[in-house]
Amino acid sequence: MERLAENIQYIKGVGPTRSRQLNRLGITNIFDILWHVPRGYINRDHTACINTLQPGETVSIRATILGTTSSRARRGMSILKALLQDRTGITTAVWFNQPFLKNTLKTGQEIFLTGKVAEKGGQAEINVAEYEMIGNEEETAKIAAVYPLTEGLNQKSMRRIVATVIDGYLREYPDILPGPLRDELSLCDIRSALRNIHCPQNRENYFSARQRLAFEELLLFQLNLVKNSLRTNEKGIPHAERDDLVSKVKGNLPYHLTGAQQKVIREIFADMESETSMTRLLQGDVGAGKTVVAALAAAKCVSSGHQAAIMAPTEILSRQHFCSMQKFFAGTNVAIASLTSGTHIKARNQILSALACGEVNIIVGTHSLIQDDIKFASLGLTVIDEQHRFGVRQRARLNQKGQSPDMLVMTATPIPRTLALTLYGDLEISIINELPPGRKPIPTKFIPHTGRKKVYDFVEKQVEQGAQVYIVCPLVEESQKQDLQAAVSLYDELSQIVFPQFSVGLLHGKMKAEEKQAEIEKFKRRKIDILITTTIIEVGIDVPNASLMIIEHAERFGLAQLHQLRGRVGRGQRQSYCILTGNPQSEEAFRRIKAMEKTNDGFLLAQEDLKIRGPGEFMGVRQHGLQQFKIADLTADLKLSEKAREIARTIEVPDNKILNKYLQLKFKNDLMQISG
Ligand code: ADP
Ligand code: MG
Repeated sequence: MERLAENIQYIKGVGPTRSRQLNRLGITNIFDILWHVPRGYINRDHTACINTLQPGETVSIRATILGTTSSRARRGMSILKALLQDRTGITTAVWFNQPFLKNTLKTGQEIFLTGKVAEKGGQAEINVAEYEMIGNEEETAKIAAVYPLTEGLNQKSMRRIVATVIDGYLREYPDILPGPLRDELSLCDIRSALRNIHCPQNRENYFSARQRLAFEELLLFQLNLVKNSLRTNEKGIPHAERDDLVSKVKGNLPYHLTGAQQKVIREIFADMESETSMTRLLQGDVGAGKTVVAALAAAKCVSSGHQAAIMAPTEILSRQHFCSMQKFFAGTNVAIASLTSGTHIKARNQILSALACGEVNIIVGTHSLIQDDIKFASLGLTVIDEQHRFGVRQRARLNQKGQSPDMLVMTATPIPRTLALTLYGDLEISIINELPPGRKPIPTKFIPHTGRKKVYDFVEKQVEQGAQVYIVCPLVEESQKQDLQAAVSLYDELSQIVFPQFSVGLLHGKMKAEEKQAEIEKFKRRKIDILITTTIIEVGIDVPNASLMIIEHAERFGLAQLHQLRGRVGRGQRQSYCILTGNPQSEEAFRRIKAMEKTNDGFLLAQEDLKIRGPGEFMGVRQHGLQQFKIADLTADLKLSEKAREIARTIEVPDNKILNKYLQLKFKNDLMQISG
């Protein structure tokens, strides 16, 4: 195992120059070489005849070079063409932007190549994807690997390096799956898998190699999660209610809990009662009613004599939760406090000492809650809202303030269950799969920027009927100032010229906390008809009378964000609408907008988003180590992934030191990120 971490310089035939080239490909050690999987293969056994080439197909041919020509096209693109002949005819092969190949493609030489056939002026022409020169030492393998390369490094050298490593080091490679388990899962051993991914003999052993390596990546990923997880299996607090606080809170609700809410509450309560500490993820679409679930969990915790902490990603949301909690706990003797960066120092000190001696039962706040000087008398539950904004590390820091407190994490964006199982392998999952009764779908329509007049006519009609409206302007990191200006000038235009008869408000991130709060209060109390805002309202704001959401420059928002924004309306009795305006240019932007028009279901949208962006981007690559997946594909290998999760939780790894080393080799710095 140790030798797999050795620097590539130790490989026979790899000197400083080669070493630098390999570094450019992200390869620094022996392990990296073994996982430098081919991006394709050339099958030397299956070649087509030149006289049968059909435009559109991808083919491999074997031919002799008759000559080459190079030229330049528009925008400086270089084109290299070779005239090729086999015993059936003549054709042309084309390489783009590789002028240096001219020296390699010598007249009279034989070449293998694969590529897509195109038609150019009535003639077939091959756009070359892979090629290899056929030398005197005819290669024996029927199927040859084609590797990602870098300048100065060709396929032959790469293949030789891989072969050397396979010969010299593969026997050191640890197999974390014991034989019987491999048999049970119908997976081959890891060494054959690595060997066969580089040198497959046939389709069967290629696929079984691929399957094992995909499983290996998923399993390591899960082991990584489990190892770094907060799931300590330590004894937590077995919460036992000592009074009727939970029923009292239920009695305060102006509605009945939905069946789905009741179900997740049962799951959470069972966890809280048990001796092992809870690590549970609560998923539910926007507006599904997660807050009340958090409140009931807090009630149970307080009833059993402990304190609960609720952490939200923004001040606005934190304040709103604080107000909600006050309503939920009205008429009880539960003491609730709020702590954000805006809290004055004197009030803060008071809250801190009240927390430390147990006088405060529930604290609601932002990340201010994880500061070092905050101590609890007995922290029994942490609730973390809108999880995407907090790293695993912040989760852990809040939890460390108690003796294995129970933890409930609530997502801002629901994701498909199977994917959630993979990405949050360390958490149990509860899903609210039902919205409160009476919610009507929110018709959503895209109107291009040129149709603004139409949009404003609609706004006017709605406001006249008593509706309140959000107009959201995007705020993009790089040009914050400019975008802020856009919001301000839109405010001027609307308040002065377009809607002088209505009350128009403005909310943006540069305002002081109190100013923001005041503006939101005004909107809540219907003193404002139209609220122009940047994306700071994205998560959590709950103003049931607001029923029209207009999103400017919708193309600049991600799908999850659009869905969150739309979720700000449709919360009350009124029929709600969402209008997306803007000027989408890219195919992806169009797909996002189409998806929004098509469905209101956050889980479906997440699935679509995943398809559009791929899992790495979807989850925010850096936090999850997903970019280290060379073979596994989270959209395609979900079944395999679930299996990996299951195995990761039960497998007995004989030697933790080996496992750690292995995880480090595979996930590099991502491991550090995950463990915090
Ligand atoms: P989210 O899951 O997005 O955090 P909230 O907890 O903010 O959703 O709830 C959205 C709205 O639905 C709130 O106005 C809340 O009062 C209301 N609500 C929650 N549960 C129910 C229910 N069972 N019946 C009716 N309304 C509910
Ligand atoms: Mg919420």
